[in-house]
Amino acid sequence: MSDCLFCGIIAGTIPADIVYENDAVVAFRDINPQAPTHVLVIPRTHTVDLVDAAADPARLGHVFAACKDVAAAVGLSDFRTVVNNGAGAGQTVFHLHVHLLGGRPLSWPPG
Ligand code: 5GP
Ligand code: ZN
Repeated sequence: MSDCLFCGIIAGTIPADIVYENDAVVAFRDINPQAPTHVLVIPRTHTVDLVDAAADPARLGHVFAACKDVAAAVGLSDFRTVVNNGAGAGQTVFHLHVHLLGGRPLSWPPG
């Protein structure tokens, strides 16, 4: 999508600190990190949100399966993943992304 920020990162027209990529996904550091390590994992194919992704479970599977290799690429063995679905849940960029967070103790439930 031409007006999508994350499609711009995939296309290379918007700079990003890319830490991992494969045929299906790209992962890059969040510009406003909420933990010492905060990476966004996104599908190469524009997908609005988790509900949109349900139409293609394989695409969603690639995004979550890649988290293992993304975490290894940034030196994390323990990490948390978060997906905000919809503006009411805090989604601000409408290209599906998994937040991968780590690098400090993460309590549960979150404080
Ligand atoms: P959301 O709020 O949609 O779940 O998450 C969007 C995330 O994208 C936020 O954590 C925000 O900091 C990050 N973000 C917004 N614009 C940019 C950008 O231009 N570059 C990078 N690397 N991250 C961004
Ligand atoms: Zn997009």
